[in-house]
Order: sequence, then structure tokens, then C-alpha cells
Amino acid sequence: MDKHISLSPCPFCGNKTYSITRNIEITEEGRSIEVGWACGCAICDVHLWGDNQSDTESKWNTRPIEDALRAEIDRLKAEMLFVPVFPQWIPVSEPPKKDGYFWCSIVDDAGCKWADKRLFSVENGWFTIGEQVTHWMPLPAEPPSEEEC
Ligand SMILES: [Zn+2]
Repeated sequence: MDKHISLSPCPFCGNKTYSITRNIEITEEGRSIEVGWACGCAICDVHLWGDNQSDTESKWNTRPIEDALRAEIDRLKAEMLFVPVFPQWIPVSEPPKKDGYFWCSIVDDAGCKWADKRLFSVENGWFTIGEQVTHWMPLPAEPPSEEEC
């Protein structure tokens, strides 16, 4: 007896697929014997013929393009897990909670804007002369050193 496998839905309409014995032959002795199998979709009138149930159902379920697309989707999903999340600008009204250097959006007294690294102290605020920090964000981690000290 053939092992029954789960059939993929119709590749055209997505509906349930049938899997039935086909090509019944009558022997010289008058017995009917099954000589083939069919899988298909009655709605789309699409059929796949085979010698036996397992081979026919296996062929029906073979979807190389669909499998390749699913593999690509899985690969892209896995890749998305490693996309770096960039820090967002934090308004200066929410100052850092510790001393140190931070990447800052700066505006000077002439109204020119740029970004640069500035020192912040919880006790004294931003160390600036003739300019104001409008936003800040943490500095990225140092690049890996080839020589460990
Ligand atoms: Zn169909």
C-alpha cells in the first residue's frame, strides 16, 4: 500500500487537491486493477498522472520555484535580524544620565548646524563655547583593535 502524504494545494487557485486512483484496467480474468494515480484540482481542471500514489503525490508537491522563494524569504528574514539599529537623536531637554562624550547636533551663534562629538557632565552640562547642543546620541562602540593592550 502506498504511503499517503499531505498534498499541497492547487498552485493556480490554492484550493484543496484530490488524489485518486485512475486508469483502472480490466484483466483477461475480468478483474479490475489499478494501473495509475492522479492528483489535481477539479476547479482548474488540472491533473497530474503517475504510476502510483506516492510518486504522483510527490510530483504534485514538487514546487521548485515556490521552494526557492520560501528559502529566499527565510534568508532575508534571518538577515533582517542582523540589521543594525541606529540610535535616534535625543533632545537636549533629556540630557545623558552619565558623564562622557556624545555625538551631538550643534547649532552655533550664527545659526550654522553640524554634528560633532562633545563632552557632557551631569554636574556642569555640555562643554560648549559659542554653540549649543540641540540633540545628542550615544557614540558607537570603538572599532575592534588588532592589537589588544
Ligand atoms: Zn485550482
